[in-house]
Order: sequence, then C-alpha cells, then structure tokens
Amino acid sequence: MRKNLIVGNWKMHGSHAANAELLAGITAARPFGCDVAVCVPFPYLSEAAVALAGSDVRWGAQDCSAHAQGAYTGEVSVGMLSEFGCRYVIVGHSERRQYHAESDQLVADKAKAALAKGITPIVCVGETLAQREAGETEAVVKRQLSAVIHTLAHCAGEMVVAYEPVWAIGTGKVATPEQAQAVHALLRAQLKAATPHADAMQILYGGSMKPDNAVSLLAQADIDGGLIGGAALKAPDFVAICRAAG
Ligand code: PEP
Repeated sequence: MRKNLIVGNWKMHGSHAANAELLAGITAARPFGCDVAVCVPFPYLSEAAVALAGSDVRWGAQDCSAHAQGAYTGEVSVGMLSEFGCRYVIVGHSERRQYHAESDQLVADKAKAALAKGITPIVCVGETLAQREAGETEAVVKRQLSAVIHTLAHCAGEMVVAYEPVWAIGTGKVATPEQAQAVHALLRAQLKAATPHADAMQILYGGSMKPDNAVSLLAQADIDGGLIGGAALKAPDFVAICRAAG
C-alpha cells in the first residue's frame, strides 16, 4: 500500500513574513495521514528547515545543478542542498523546461546528481495542450520518463514522478480524474518494465489541484499524491489537500 505524498511548490513566491505564517499554519494542522513536503525558493531553505525542525513536514528545493561544483554562476549544487538536510528536489518542472530550455537529458542528469547525495528527485513530466490535441501525450511523457529511467538505471525506483499536464498548471483547468489516471497507469507500466520497485513508487499529479478536486483525483488507483502550486501558498487550502490525502 503506497502512502500519499503532498508537495507544495512555492515557485518564486514568499517573504520572511509570509513563509513564517504559511509554515506555522501547516505545522499547526498536523498530524496528516500522508507524507507532506514544501519546496521553497533557495534563499528561504534554511529558514524553512528551522521552522520545520521537529515536525514531520519535509522540505525541498525547486531545482538543482547537474554539476557537483565549479564555474556555474547562479547554480546551486545538490551537495550544498544536502548540507542543509534537504529531502527533495523538483527537477524538470515544465517552467524550467520551457523558460530555461532544459532537455530530457539535463533533467535526468539532475535527478542522478540528487540521488547521489541522498536527495529524492521529484521528476516532472507532462504534455502541452498542443501535444495532447495532437494525440502525443503518451509519446511525450514516455520519452521524458525514459531519459530518467536510463540515466538512473538500477536507482530508478528511488525517484518520485510527478505527472503535470502543462495545460493544467496554474490555469485552473484540471485534468479529469480519468485523464490523469490513464497517464499515471502508463507511467506505472513504464516504471514496472524498468524496476522491481514500481509498485511502491509514488506518482504525483500536478495541475490546478485544489481542495475541491483533490479527493476525486487522489481516489484514482495510480495517483499517489499531488504537486501543488497555487493552492500551496494558502495554509487552509494546502492543509485541506493534505487531509484529503491522509
Ligand atoms: C505546479 O507548479 O507544479 C503546479 C501544479 O501548479 P498549480 O497547482 O498552480 O497548477
């Protein structure tokens, strides 16, 4: 039986005051019957670690470098993240693929670098609206996941996968539970062909998940939690989703 995982992706939002209020609202609502994490902007990682110390709410980053160290201005290595006790890192979010031209192989290399430092990569895959309308959803998500599976090899079972249809991210257009489950089942089958741990792996759905649609999405057989953007910035909404997943 897989435990659900709910991850808040704060994106480029936050301030000392807003973060403190949000984290206090989340920790005060514990315990949750699921795994919970927040992925915060780099400058706030250490204050999140302090605010969450002693609680079972985990924290992570939203990106990392594929390189261990060196002349890569502006990048943050997984070694640096692990020094703070970072648990998760999101890699391959569609906003990084789109705005930073991240390739499937770069995403895979980042996932590999994270695992090498004991950080669980949350690997995002998902199709654009044009790709869905062209009937390319399966080919796109399989291609994206395949690069990671091949690069991680025998460690593939240690990642978390997030299916995030690009057309549903931040748009309020949520995939129906049936649409999401169909893709999750494909991803699970692909993982099964690659690792004996596929049945235990968490595959999250992301894309306008809110308190009012979380229950029906999370009821699907292969949906094991959510990667939450907008609703992760309001403690009552994020807590409601965590409760739905518990
Ligand atoms: C995301 O950024 O990963 C996301 C799913 O955003 P939203 O929930 O706002 O669609």
